[in-house]
Amino acid sequence: MRFDGKVAFVTGGNRGIGASICKRLASEGADIAFIDRAPDPQEEVTKAVNNFGKRAIFYEADVTDKAMIEEVVANVVKELGSLDILVNNAGITRDNLLIRMKEEDWRAVIDINLTGIFNVTQAVAKIMLKQRSGSIINIASVIGISGNAGQVNYAASKAGVIGVTKSLAKEFANRGIRVNAVAPGFIETAMTKALSEDVREKARQLIPLGFFGEPEDVAAAVSFLASEDARYITGQVLVVDGGMIR
Ligand code: NDP
Repeated sequence: MRFDGKVAFVTGGNRGIGASICKRLASEGADIAFIDRAPDPQEEVTKAVNNFGKRAIFYEADVTDKAMIEEVVANVVKELGSLDILVNNAGITRDNLLIRMKEEDWRAVIDINLTGIFNVTQAVAKIMLKQRSGSIINIASVIGISGNAGQVNYAASKAGVIGVTKSLAKEFANRGIRVNAVAPGFIETAMTKALSEDVREKARQLIPLGFFGEPEDVAAAVSFLASEDARYITGQVLVVDGGMIR
């Protein structure tokens, strides 16, 4: 129970990789606050966290709404007592070739994937800087390292996430706050289920391990980076992709 007494804040925690991260951190002792644009009528994550004997608070909030995020973060500290782990997970894709990409699709991806991290991290950092401890994990993507045709907006946002991670690691190091990123490859979630079978098969051929990862594989990497086992690791990008990029 390495996160006993700790509070984790996870964006986009209702489903996919975010939901898995909430459950994994709770299974190791953390209380969980998580946000999403839409409510989950089944309250699946809340129930799972409660089943580990941990508290869960859900907020319907958009990472692009800075004022709302500040209100939510203040409320988390009031309700759960502190904020020790931040996982910036919320993200979207709006794929198209550059020549056909609408400006609104460029902006939506940058706003959510990159400016969203600025909004949430700025609000949470104020708490962590005061308590002089914390661990921040940003979910990037291998596409932010390798690039990909048809994903200029997504690649730019995720390369930006890596730049934010490395810069903040340097900015916060002397205040006891570590900042790292996890860069997943192809993971089985709604995001990749939306791909055609043809694209999925081509992707599989690029993965030396031969299969798509599960959200739990990303959650395991997040849990490691959030923990004291990673106390000497900051400013790093941990690639979780079955060996796809080198
Ligand atoms: P999903 O689409 O399954 O889940 C994304 C989550 O983020 C949803 O809960 C979504 O909520 C939430 N979200 C989206 N926009 C906002 C917003 N503006 N404010 C708050 N929450 C928001 O995606 P994944 O679980 O696959 O992806 C999670 C992260 O992992 C993303 O950052 C993604 O880029 C990254 N990633 C995923 C990979 C994959 O193969 N799946 C590979 C590499 C990186 P809503 O229900 O409202 O849409």
